Amino acid sequence: MRDDQLADSPIPYARQSITDPDIEAVVRILRSDWLTQGPAVKRFEKVVAEYCGARYAVAVNSGTSALHISCLAAGLGPGDSLWTSPNTFVASANCALYCGARVDFVDIDPRTLNLSLPALEEKLTKAKTTGNLPKVVIPVHFAGQSCDMAGISDLAVRFGFAVIEDACHAMGGRYRGFPIGNCTYSEMTIFSFHPVKIITTGEGGMVLTNREDLYRKLVRLRSHGITRDPSLMEGESDGQWYYQQTGIGFNYRMTDIQAALGESQLSRIDNFVQRRHILAERYGKSLKILPVSPPWQHPDCYSSYHLYVVRLIPGRIGKTRKRVFEELRAAGIQVHVHYIPVHTQPYYRKLGFRPGDFPEAERYYQEALTLPMYYALTDEEQDRVIASLEGTLR
Ligand SMILES: *Cc1c(COP(=O)(O)O)cnc(C)c1O
Repeated sequence: MRDDQLADSPIPYARQSITDPDIEAVVRILRSDWLTQGPAVKRFEKVVAEYCGARYAVAVNSGTSALHISCLAAGLGPGDSLWTSPNTFVASANCALYCGARVDFVDIDPRTLNLSLPALEEKLTKAKTTGNLPKVVIPVHFAGQSCDMAGISDLAVRFGFAVIEDACHAMGGRYRGFPIGNCTYSEMTIFSFHPVKIITTGEGGMVLTNREDLYRKLVRLRSHGITRDPSLMEGESDGQWYYQQTGIGFNYRMTDIQAALGESQLSRIDNFVQRRHILAERYGKSLKILPVSPPWQHPDCYSSYHLYVVRLIPGRIGKTRKRVFEELRAAGIQVHVHYIPVHTQPYYRKLGFRPGDFPEAERYYQEALTLPMYYALTDEEQDRVIASLEGTLR
């Protein structure tokens, strides 16, 4: 046991796993000519695209930036609207507001905790009669389990919207046997490489797509709207130094330092996810006797198990969720809650949303508890989590 893993040190809900080869990969870049805009970013993009089975990948400095430029590439702007799940991190909705578009939500399926397909279809059918169809829908693969992408893509064809998968939780997961990120059922898929996610670059993100036109837009949006490719310029190039700004973009670039870490991490992604499955199975067995529901798994999905969320069964526990949370935290188990429904945030209430708008997401939020889940969580640590949970719920 390492010094930082003493028996009673706190157990976080998530954390990165960094090895000596990860550190060496970063140091190699620090000693090289390119700290940014060099070959490591291109290499990382190539290996992620290959891993996922997508044609193109664009690395950026966060998952949030990936959401922003993918919305812009999809043409989202003022007068348009974007729909997503209320059971997500605020970034999945904020990206609409960055583009000057409206945002709305679709309630969740109480089993998968993902956006509900029947609720989406019903809302689309109504929106069609009032001329309020969304331009973009962002399904979020909550906890690492894919949404019903075949169903969503059928609706996208029928109602004419673009699909951007928020797969920040789901890298390394599969849907109907194929890697999440292959964009078979979407225009674009985005990942985050924040340290709590499946692989990390510190901060970082990526957009994947199979469409060359979107790829070209994404590359330009990432870097100021600038191109150095003479074939994309208006008129003649002045010479080899020349670049043109043909639109407005940002500096959302990932550094080569981050990309090298990401590439090194990617080589272990399948091990990361396999370990998470073993931990999920161990939780599932031990929690059977407790008044909690384990996460339900759809047979089409191989989750990446970014999060392991249980629901406390109402009426079978003599304590509030708040009390259970506080007792576990006091015992050094850093449980968490994912997510506060986005539409109930004060900023979103100012936009007109109200508690009660999306009752399944709100009911789920009252009962949710995220247990520690990460590659380096040992069996002994997990047993401590389970024992503490048993002690609290008895
Ligand atoms: C983490 C996360 C994001 C944002 O990613 P960052 O890299 O932190 O910007 C967006 N959506 C979901 C679902 C996330 O979990």
